Amino acid sequence: MEKYIYLKNTTDYSKLKVAGEIIKQGGLVLFPTETVYGLGANGLDEDAVKKIYIAKGRKQDNPLILHVSNFDMVSKIAKDISDIEYTLMKTFWPGPFTIILNRTKIVPDIVTAGLDTVGVRMPSGEIARALISYAEVPIAAPSANISGRPSGTNVSDIFEELSGKVDYIVDGGECEVGLESTVVRVVDGVPTILRPGKISPEDIQKVIGVVKIDEHILKNIEPDEKVLSPGMKYRHYAPKSQCLLIYSEDNEKMVKKIQEISKEYTNPLVISCIENAKYYEVNHKIIYGAKENLNEIAQNIFKDLRKVDSFHPDIVIIEGVKNQGIGLAIMNRLIRACEYHYIKI
Ligand code: AMP
Ligand code: MG
Repeated sequence: MEKYIYLKNTTDYSKLKVAGEIIKQGGLVLFPTETVYGLGANGLDEDAVKKIYIAKGRKQDNPLILHVSNFDMVSKIAKDISDIEYTLMKTFWPGPFTIILNRTKIVPDIVTAGLDTVGVRMPSGEIARALISYAEVPIAAPSANISGRPSGTNVSDIFEELSGKVDYIVDGGECEVGLESTVVRVVDGVPTILRPGKISPEDIQKVIGVVKIDEHILKNIEPDEKVLSPGMKYRHYAPKSQCLLIYSEDNEKMVKKIQEISKEYTNPLVISCIENAKYYEVNHKIIYGAKENLNEIAQNIFKDLRKVDSFHPDIVIIEGVKNQGIGLAIMNRLIRACEYHYIKI
């Protein structure tokens, strides 16, 4: 049985020393960040990182992000950093922002899936940063969930999935953002978003003046297509039930379409904003937040996706959101949760 510690509402992180030791010794620690929970191991220890892939059932060609607590760690694992890359790190760190940098030889191949680049992030979550400081090494940490499942945003959602597979659980309550970090690679001087998150294209545009959104973020990927980030290819965030995403800028149209489609099923479940829930005469409803509060929807969406299977619905219909700010990240996750079953009107 793994050790467990609850660290909510405290500023005394000295208890994380033990968890830091476990990381140093090659163990696995489940810990909160401001985005989602991470499944962490010493990012410079090949054998420790191997345990992450096994615990998650993650494909070996899907690289991991290294989490750092200071810039000294960055200079050990990355090289040839450009001015634009520095500006991005200085602006968005600590925070939900990952940058893809040229890696040094110290980073094991298993972390980068053999690529000559490495994803690096300095989280703003205090527990995460304290843990990295105690471990004194960059921590490799993908989202804490079995591959393909929604990422864990609180311990009780993922306890069954990961208990027995880790050495230590650090419980910090609910994650603040609820979606994984924005992943950016600077290509020919242009920051290119490979995975959208809380740090939005608009935020990056303001600082650098240009930004590109990778075309694969909202579209399906063909089996042999070459992508800049291996994680884009995989089935993700999906409940077992069949899901359908519907969106229109015209709220009335969207509601009408969802009403129509839900009538074709015997046990439909609708996930919607609080304002629209009253319009749906369906067996099951889940409310993901207020329509205009995209931060709230982001924080709830993985938790809500984890609830749906217990209702055994024959269809899950999900209201989409506008593609602005963190809305792009919400839509990116929902489109994958629905395995590209998406109707835009
Ligand atoms: P997760 O660990 O679940 O948060 O996923 C990490 C994401 O970062 C995946 O989508 C990876 O494909 C992506 N990633 C990590 N390292 C790299 C890299 N060196 N180049 C491109 N994408 C990366
Ligand atoms: Mg993940």
